Amino acid sequence: MKKNTWQYNTHNTLKGADKCNAFFHSKQFEDQNFPIKIPLEFANLIDKNNPNDPLLKQVISTETPGFSIETPGFSIEPLEDEENAPVAGLIHKYPNRVLLIASRVCAIHCQYCFRQNFNYSGHDAISNWQAIEEYIYTHPQVNEVILSGGDPLSLSDEKLQGLINNIENIPHIKNLRFHTRSAVVTPSRITAELVKMLGKTRLRIVLVTHVNHANELSDKFAEAIGQLTKVTLLNQSVLLKGVNDSVSVLSTLSTDLFALGILPYYLHLLDKVSGAEHFLVEDETATKLHRELGKKLSGYLVPRLVRDENLAAKTWL
Ligand code: SF4
Repeated sequence: MKKNTWQYNTHNTLKGADKCNAFFHSKQFEDQNFPIKIPLEFANLIDKNNPNDPLLKQVISTETPGFSIETPGFSIEPLEDEENAPVAGLIHKYPNRVLLIASRVCAIHCQYCFRQNFNYSGHDAISNWQAIEEYIYTHPQVNEVILSGGDPLSLSDEKLQGLINNIENIPHIKNLRFHTRSAVVTPSRITAELVKMLGKTRLRIVLVTHVNHANELSDKFAEAIGQLTKVTLLNQSVLLKGVNDSVSVLSTLSTDLFALGILPYYLHLLDKVSGAEHFLVEDETATKLHRELGKKLSGYLVPRLVRDENLAAKTWL
């Protein structure tokens, strides 16, 4: 396997507490409910001497709150998507767009993830393509497909190309949106082949990155994202206590994203998944922070503060 390719980096991802303790020269990490998974390109951005590093806190917890289903308001699966899934692997909430679960795999395991307990079995847009295609054909008002997961960029180029080809063949689909964290945590995934693939389709491509802190914006990511000249670039973040719950951290994130050509789009309130209690920023604090951010930044740099109702629906605050 060639060194520094995304396949190599994926193969060498840190999995489990033992590997993390060895990498960070630490003895303090323990296995988590959501198994630890940290890609090397992300791990290399973490300050090994700082137990409060904002990147480290997203992927491994020393507080180890554990599996506390008893915390009021928190649950194993906070968002119920099944009722909006008319076909396995497809979620349809708004008239003009559908969301496909393109992959069950992520490059990283974010300890605040609301999908960490989701039962993906059966929800695979690729193996269930025929039924999905039929559904989209019978809904001509749908003009946008969103690829989510997991992470759609965990698919191989071949699988991704096949999926794009299939979607492209449906005449009323105009826009194709990717929701991906891989782009920033494994920038090597943005290969020349991928750039070419996204540049040659007739579909208008929107890539929504998931970046929570400016420290995640490596030079490699800047270089990679700079290649996507034909793609509309947006970002979504999750508001996380101890990671990015300050006006200065959020304004630096917005400014640095914009310098790379990425517009801050959403700032999500935490979805209340068991085990992520320590990340919660209360609504009142969040709206106050958001107001302060609005005073500090130009309007187009202020992401919308939203709460997920399910994978495909949001409430604005
Ligand atoms: S990349 Fe997204 S889906 Fe995957 S663990 Fe992180 S938040 Fe969850």
